[in-house]
Amino acid sequence: MMQDTYTHKGLRLRMVENLKESGITDAAVLKAMSDVPRHFFLGAGLDVVAYDEAPVKIGFDQTISRPSTVAMQSQLLQVQRGMKVLEIGTGSGYQTAVLCRMGARVFTIERQKGLFDRTKPLLQQLGYNARCFLGDGYQGLTEVNYGPYDRVLITCGAPSIPEALMAQLKQGGIMVIPLGEVDQEMLRITKLGPTEEEWKIERFGIFNFVPMLEGKEFSV
Ligand code: SAH
Repeated sequence: MMQDTYTHKGLRLRMVENLKESGITDAAVLKAMSDVPRHFFLGAGLDVVAYDEAPVKIGFDQTISRPSTVAMQSQLLQVQRGMKVLEIGTGSGYQTAVLCRMGARVFTIERQKGLFDRTKPLLQQLGYNARCFLGDGYQGLTEVNYGPYDRVLITCGAPSIPEALMAQLKQGGIMVIPLGEVDQEMLRITKLGPTEEEWKIERFGIFNFVPMLEGKEFSV
């Protein structure tokens, strides 16, 4: 069983101080990231690097985003308690846990079976009641009908804006998406109406995410 020691809490405090210095102002984001033990989502022996301002490998060729990226995406999403949030790319489950801690009702999709099988029970065991799905995030959630969503968060680099996800977003809803094939530009899209001309697009700089890939992946 993993421990959340004073050392971990200290590292977490320092991480949050750094986030404040880097311009994160959303109190709910800062509180959630102070509360969620980030090292619980990484392998044994990574409990100190977990709090570094760096991405960390989580297996299956994937990485957990650096703390400032998680904070930035969470802040851009403008989450309020009770909102339905659809997340693409469960990965380690850390971002999922942060959104749960902020009071969102989280629906999260992962395409890698190995990660899905590891992260779903972990979130449950830690008491985060996100609903986890194995599937292709490009399609959103089609078999189950929990939508439309107040917010959509994409945590992998998308080559284009997935149509199905925009369709599953509420009118007035917000999608945060790193868009691009090599590097990604962080976009916040507010869906003011159903057609593309009615989307308000704001830009928040260049990032580097693992790619959003098509289809489910069962390799281990
Ligand atoms: N939010 C995660 C970030 C993990 S990296 C975390 O906090 O750890 C991005 C994840 O997106 C990877 O796990 C990758 O397998 C997943 N992914 C890539 N393309 C996807 C798709 N089409 N649908 C669902 N998940 C996808």
